[in-house]
Amino acid sequence: MSVNYAAGLSTYADKGVCGLPESFDSKEELRGKVEALAKLIRESQYLVVHSGAGISTSSGIPDFRGPKGVWTMEERGESPHFDTTFEEARPSLTHMALLGLQRASYLKYLISQNVDGLHVRSGFPRNLLSELHGNMFVEECGKCGKQYVREKVIGVMGLKPTGKYCEEVRGRGLRSCRGKLISTILDWEEALPEKDLNRAEEASRQADLALTLGTSLQIKPSGDLPLFTKRKGGKVVIVNLQPTKHDKHAHLRINGYVDEVMSQLMELLGLDIPKWDGPTVCESATPDQKPLLAIATKKEEKKGVKKEAKREGRKRLGEPKKEEEDEEKIARPSDAALHHSLSWSNRLYTAWMCVGSLSC
Ligand SMILES: [Zn+2]
Repeated sequence: MSVNYAAGLSTYADKGVCGLPESFDSKEELRGKVEALAKLIRESQYLVVHSGAGISTSSGIPDFRGPKGVWTMEERGESPHFDTTFEEARPSLTHMALLGLQRASYLKYLISQNVDGLHVRSGFPRNLLSELHGNMFVEECGKCGKQYVREKVIGVMGLKPTGKYCEEVRGRGLRSCRGKLISTILDWEEALPEKDLNRAEEASRQADLALTLGTSLQIKPSGDLPLFTKRKGGKVVIVNLQPTKHDKHAHLRINGYVDEVMSQLMELLGLDIPKWDGPTVCESATPDQKPLLAIATKKEEKKGVKKEAKREGRKRLGEPKKEEEDEEKIARPSDAALHHSLSWSNRLYTAWMCVGSLSC
């Protein structure tokens, strides 16, 4: 299954400034800046990181506005190049370093514009992560809001029904929710997920240090969130090869590859970068960072879901296969209308991506 962001996108004229030239700090300059960043992080009380497509390019997933980005190539009438599929993409050094920073208690909250699911698949705790533009691997119940992290991409965009139904059971003896599951990927002009956006805004206000990695900060409201930190007296550090919209607000501006910056940073902080052992899902950060839900195989996923249900003191989430099939036959036209994301008032535009070989 190939990855093709550009295929099937809605027509939307304003895709921001694309293809700006990249600039690189000298080796010495870069080292000095990363040392300054390490000092800021050591001194910080509440670090928030904002990640963009630039942190996934080394995983083989193209960005949007870089020299070979999806929109840059589109402007030239060319197609972007893809080195991987979403399922096969491995978290980059930066993804894993962020997990290391979180485990070391430096990183308090992570806000991402990426829909590639790599933060979640790296094992980053979902309760400390806002995915403002959705996640290719996550579908959500339009009725009760329960989210399901899948091992394969959902293949449906624009908050549309995925054809599956919610298996959540709220109480002993009660039947499952059966709400329609909906894609979490936003189309242009669709509202951001309210819960994720609220948490991201709250964390940005609380932060005394905002670090942006691999984003041109052009998309609203995601790109403006670091300014919340600055307005509260905090500092903003920007790591990006191209100029960003908010360079003038940066306390420190680093022109380097994010993986190089993060590699040096972790070394300076004396932290190991966790190794990736395959896709994992960590629902919430706990002192021992457990449990991890392995989703390497379908069998493991089901087993993991059962464990999760047990942990939360709920009845088994999955229903017998026969009942699942029966659910498919039950028409519940009102469920989609109940999806809270459709009623959000902040109709601000955002970026979205597409798996071209799937339904779009
Ligand atoms: Zn539900």
